[in-house]
Amino acid sequence: MTLLKRRWRESGISTKIILLMQAVLLVTSILFCTVSIYRARTDIKRAIWRRMLDIVNCAAASVDGDYLADLSADDVGTKEYNDLYKKLAVFRDNVDFEYIYSLRKVDDHNYIFTMDLDPEDPAAFGDEVLFTEALAKAGNGTSAVDEEAYEDKWGEFYSAYSPVFDSSGKVAGVIAVDFSADWFDSQLSAQTRTNVISFAIILVISLLVSAVLSLITLRPFVKAQEQLLEEKVRAEGANRAKSDFLANMSHEIRTPINAMMGMNEMILRETRQMRDIIETNPYGAIESSSNILTYASDCENAGQNLIAIINDILDFSKIEEGRMDLVEAPYKISSLLKELRETISIKADDKGLEFFINVDDDLPDVLCGDEVRTRQVLTNLINNAVKYTEHGFVSLTVNGEKKAGDTFLLKAVVRDSGIGIKHEDLQKLFKRFSRLEMERNSTLEGTGLGLVITQRLLDMMNGTVEVESEYGKGSVFTVTIPQRIVSEDEQDENAAQLKSEPDRSGPLRAPEARILAVDDTRVNLTLVTALLQDTGITVDTALSGADAVAMAHRTHYDTILMDQRMPEMDGVETLKLIRLDAGGASAASPVICFTADAVVGAKERYLAEGFDDYMSKPITGYALEEMLAKHLPQTKLK
Ligand code: ADP
Repeated sequence: MTLLKRRWRESGISTKIILLMQAVLLVTSILFCTVSIYRARTDIKRAIWRRMLDIVNCAAASVDGDYLADLSADDVGTKEYNDLYKKLAVFRDNVDFEYIYSLRKVDDHNYIFTMDLDPEDPAAFGDEVLFTEALAKAGNGTSAVDEEAYEDKWGEFYSAYSPVFDSSGKVAGVIAVDFSADWFDSQLSAQTRTNVISFAIILVISLLVSAVLSLITLRPFVKAQEQLLEEKVRAEGANRAKSDFLANMSHEIRTPINAMMGMNEMILRETRQMRDIIETNPYGAIESSSNILTYASDCENAGQNLIAIINDILDFSKIEEGRMDLVEAPYKISSLLKELRETISIKADDKGLEFFINVDDDLPDVLCGDEVRTRQVLTNLINNAVKYTEHGFVSLTVNGEKKAGDTFLLKAVVRDSGIGIKHEDLQKLFKRFSRLEMERNSTLEGTGLGLVITQRLLDMMNGTVEVESEYGKGSVFTVTIPQRIVSEDEQDENAAQLKSEPDRSGPLRAPEARILAVDDTRVNLTLVTALLQDTGITVDTALSGADAVAMAHRTHYDTILMDQRMPEMDGVETLKLIRLDAGGASAASPVICFTADAVVGAKERYLAEGFDDYMSKPITGYALEEMLAKHLPQTKLK
């Protein structure tokens, strides 16, 4: 009932009108049928009465009124009496009724038999007959029938009465014909049944038509309703997944922050203690400094975890919005694998796992493809393998085969002897935000985005991923990524670039360079200054846009690092003023946007505003050096 009410409430005005019209049609046809059946029954009764009257009138017409008027008990048995008897007997024997007899009025309420044609139990001349209204009418000269049945010693009847007139026009007597109540009722019900059946057929047909009409009218509505319901369920599911994801994410983000803050507190404590120790016992400081190193590296790890989570979210939203672009260039597979080995080995060692990489000797060393995304795919899979393995090993096997043209299908297989994945969970693996066996894995960090990103990246690169797993024994993830084989000529062309990459990774030295770092948060300026300490670069700092503009006017800076979100004057405004100050010493210096705004499209937006480059916070010393190496004058690089 509530469902019906809801559907009614949610239906459109036209559907409501159609439904109402159908309801009215239905009620009207039921009413019409009922009234018609009732009226038809009355008509049928009238028709039966008419027939009864016709019979009795016909019989009365055959009787001589003058003879009937003078009839007395003495006439019974005479020839004339018998002649009349015979005449009426013709009717009795040929027409469908019970009894026929003649009556005479004694007074207004009394009538007697003058002749009775009942062959078995006839009334005698002068016997009183049962008085009815119809009989009284006939006694007064008008034929009539009993509208209600009456009962006498012969049974239950409806009778028809017809007056017989003498030659002077007076009522000489009444001819009466009895029709049994059973006959009357059977006539009535036979006719009525036919009527009821006809109306029932009409009603059923109209019901069917109205039901079909309703179905046709309501079908799209019901369909839309079902669709809505389905969408609602889907949306609720997606919403739940999102809420779970957010809750999980909040937990994931809090965990490294907690570690960072905790470790930092320990560093502060330990450093204060060390200061005291140095004053009393300089050698005791060694133990303290090794504690500080442990805390600081834990802090760094936590920070790296945090940034990995944020990068996953950013990558995911970039992919979702179709804004992830691939950058294809030649790269050395050996360097990629070396880097992987370095980062993964540490994690595998920490967990006491064996980690080995098998590389096919025939693998070309230089391939053309998106190195960053290829590395990301492999890193995701190997990180998972390490994460979900407690004992045993994790391995990476890399090989591939040459395909048509210069295509090379790179194939990487990541095996582990870890917890494995249940067969029924395999298809959930690549669904966004889905993490399997949350209870069992609740202590393992993860966002549930890694494999989704992996799959989407592979889709973009026309690659594939397959999983085989035995629950409790381990898993095998196999990926293929089409890459391009680089010709010798192309390799030579790129050799310089490929070589210069590791060159640049050496420590940066530029003691003659001077840069300006602008940020309203003092700690960020302190960090930049500290990170660049070993490079010899002079770092001036400004806490506001206005200060930066003034300093850039006075001093020539080789590069300016500019925070974006600052009170009063933001990074973009500050940049514009520096550029507009044509006579300023740093009007043409490269300005790098240095911001925590890392959402999709941020880089493109800032470059469009006129910045020379873009760096998202948090920064590492390495990234900062890389960036400065790119923008400082080559002559100042040592
Ligand atoms: P997460 O951040 O949770 O690791 P992923 O998308 O990388 O997210 O993986 C999704 C889920 O797949 C994981 O939560 C884990 O249950 C399962 N999984 C992924 N890799 C492995 C593996 N090598 N062994 C067992 N389970 C795995």
